[in-house]
Amino acid sequence: MPYCPECGGLMLYIASNKQYVCQSCGLSLTQQELVELKEKLKQPYEEEDERTKRRKEYLKWWLSKKK
Ligand SMILES: [Zn+2]
Repeated sequence: MPYCPECGGLMLYIASNKQYVCQSCGLSLTQQELVELKEKLKQPYEEEDERTKRRKEYLKWWLSKKK
């Protein structure tokens, strides 16, 4: 079962509508929309991770310089 890109809730497949519906927030998406949304949401998170990593490395360097 896929998870809701909006709230992280469990999504149920409704065969009659050919759509996934979130049990938590009620968001309904087709398989295609779900894949597209996941792709869109994946990238900013990875960039954020990179930025956090770089900031930590900088902080480490700055602290070692200070000693
Ligand atoms: Zn949801």
